[in-house]
Amino acid sequence: MKLSELKPVHTARIEAVGGEGALRQHFLDMGVIPGAEVTTIKFAPMGDPMELQIHGYELTLRIADAEKITITPLEQKQTSDSDRRDRKNTEHPGLGEEGRFHLKGDGDPLPEGTKLTFALVGNQNSGKTTLFNQLTGSNQHVGNFPGVTVDRKDGVIRGHSDTLITDLPGIYSMSPYSSEEQVSRNFVLNEKPKGIINIVDATNIERNLYLTMQLLEMDVPMVVALNMMDELRGNGGTVDVNTMEAMLGVPVVPISAAKNEGVDELVQHAVHIARYQERPLEQDFCGAEDHGGAVHRALHAVAHLIEDHAARTGLPLRFAAGKLIEGDALIAAQLDLDQNEQEMLDHIVLQMEKERGLDHSAAMADMRFDFIRKVCDACVVKPHESKEHLRSQKIDRILTGKMTAIPVFIAIMALVFYLTFFLIGPFFQDLLAGGIEALKQLVEQGMTAVNVNPTIQSLVLDGIFEGVGTVVSFLPIIVILFFFLSLLEDSGYIARVAFVMDKLLRRIGLSGRSIVPMLLGFGCTVPAVMSTRTLPSERDRRMTILLTPFMSCTAKLPIYGFFVSAFFPRQSWWMITGLYLLGILTGILAAFVFKNTLFRGEAVPFVMELPNYRFPSPRNVALLLWEKARDFLHRAFSVILVATIVVWFLKSFNFRFDLLEDSHESILAAVSGLLVPIMKPAGLGDWRIVTSLVSGFMAKESVVSVMETLFRDGVTSIGAVSAASMLVFSLLYTPCVAAVAAIRRELGRGWAVCVVLWQCGIAWIAALIVQLIAHFVGLT
Ligand code: GDP
Ligand code: MG
Repeated sequence: MKLSELKPVHTARIEAVGGEGALRQHFLDMGVIPGAEVTTIKFAPMGDPMELQIHGYELTLRIADAEKITITPLEQKQTSDSDRRDRKNTEHPGLGEEGRFHLKGDGDPLPEGTKLTFALVGNQNSGKTTLFNQLTGSNQHVGNFPGVTVDRKDGVIRGHSDTLITDLPGIYSMSPYSSEEQVSRNFVLNEKPKGIINIVDATNIERNLYLTMQLLEMDVPMVVALNMMDELRGNGGTVDVNTMEAMLGVPVVPISAAKNEGVDELVQHAVHIARYQERPLEQDFCGAEDHGGAVHRALHAVAHLIEDHAARTGLPLRFAAGKLIEGDALIAAQLDLDQNEQEMLDHIVLQMEKERGLDHSAAMADMRFDFIRKVCDACVVKPHESKEHLRSQKIDRILTGKMTAIPVFIAIMALVFYLTFFLIGPFFQDLLAGGIEALKQLVEQGMTAVNVNPTIQSLVLDGIFEGVGTVVSFLPIIVILFFFLSLLEDSGYIARVAFVMDKLLRRIGLSGRSIVPMLLGFGCTVPAVMSTRTLPSERDRRMTILLTPFMSCTAKLPIYGFFVSAFFPRQSWWMITGLYLLGILTGILAAFVFKNTLFRGEAVPFVMELPNYRFPSPRNVALLLWEKARDFLHRAFSVILVATIVVWFLKSFNFRFDLLEDSHESILAAVSGLLVPIMKPAGLGDWRIVTSLVSGFMAKESVVSVMETLFRDGVTSIGAVSAASMLVFSLLYTPCVAAVAAIRRELGRGWAVCVVLWQCGIAWIAALIVQLIAHFVGLT
């Protein structure tokens, strides 16, 4: 029977996993291995993908992929309570107690002054970023979506100035499946950190240890941080840390990153193992008795075979042997075996497959999970069905329910936008604008009192206050939108959106995972583009990056606010909603074009973990908002201020540097005038509009500040039709410099230039269409 035929909620044992290559390896790495028990939970509202439970966590899988998995249905699910054992009161170090696992004691430390570099490695959503924030005191972006950390972040551990810790992307294994896994693997292999801090989610220990085992093979000093102990204990579970240390051969420190418990002790251990270079004592996890010892013998044989190659290339031996058996082409190329050796390897692997009755990848994954089972049996008292999990299931009944999921999604997004743009946002915006106006009058009075030169007065009042002031007054709206987006992300909801929307997104050639960059794009294109690195296929990644600029970012809000309040105050709700929808719609159209031209082929499989819902930590959210606000203000007082001053200067003088009354003869009018003929058909043939749009390339907010400087008698003179064209053009034209730079980093210069050009082209056409419509309905 196929897994896809198993109705929810039923349990089955996996018999065989079909498919091939990297995808299949990914299945295996996620624990979908022959012999594992799997329970179907539900289908997504549109019938695809499906949600499964395996090794105690939730996973999504498309029907097409589930068809490749053969199962035998089981009568009933083995309840986890039946194998609970009473080891509550064994003596072992708990949160923050002194662990005792050090063998070298104070043997030969690294020389004084050596920089102790650490890699922070762990599964997605295990709390890496939270721990990183605790360790470094810095404010990194934390989210409850698998894989929010997409860029490397470094920081010094507080109180240890000779350390440097790097927060790596969350990964499930050391196979190069997504570009994040490659980043993490290469970091450990090439940059050779002095130590690894492996963060393990104690509530999800079975799956998390899979990565741990591969890290141990890297032969780098390591300490395991057993995170989320608060949650585990709260549900009646516990871990015998001493036994686990003995079995894994590295220090294990129970911590709670969110509550800052046990973190100091973790640091002590980490510094110790790095300074004394205490390598893992255990790397040999294959048992001579397990299933006749086939895997054991194969691994050791291959290790002997390649010993010299591994030493020469500097690859850790056990790791290299394991990856060779798994068929990892990158490692094989690096080791550069000669033909005889390659043939011996093939024979060893063939023999192992024959004896074990599983293919090479499945046999390796099975060996690892076997060992994990032993560790868990010996050290872990499983918790009751956790409160958090039960709560998540209840919430999911509505948020991913068949009838409710999509209406709820629409309602939530509508609520977010309503609160941001019409309820809370404008209230604070008015307050702030009032404050700025009051300040402006004060400054004006002051300057008049001391007789400041009128040119300077005009610069300060018309240029800086009007321009930068208007932009700054949008700060509240922007912060509030980010607040809601981070709540959605941090709580775990966005992962559900990906699950629910996968089928729809496949119609336009993408997978559910692409929804994350898209939603982040409503905040800012830069992090959105960066977050595409979580996507495992290059094709999906490129396509998603090209589509994110269509999601209207917060920096465009001042433009909308400015024009809508000047021209369409009665229809503001419809205008702004319409603009957002127009952006999305254009994106969908573009996706269809891409799908049938540049990016033919299928979207990647959708294998993703669905984390429990968690209350976002107020500290994390507050830090994020502070970061965004600081960023915005920084831009307002750097790029936008400079742009405003430059524009003010160019419009106030002519080529002979005479101060002008009428800016129509200014330098600016002459230069911008060159572009006017091109923009005329689109209804934007006014040099002042052209200037503001050009300045918007630096930062979108400066469109407004420049407009304020150039239209002294009010912007209404351009007319409502031009204003509509302007809105549409601003929505669609080139992303700002920062976003283009991010795109260049991800896709290269050629693509970045293409994005700029083609977005401008689309915007121009859209503005032209606005003009034509206005013409035909008789408005012009
Ligand atoms: P990352 O994806 O590995 O970087 O994980 P994050 O740091 O983004 O954390 C994922 C989620 O787990 C967030 O909602 C955190 O608030 C939460 N979290 C992190 N550490 C702990 C912990 O020790 N206890 C509990 N209960 N929650 C935690
Ligand atoms: Mg993170």
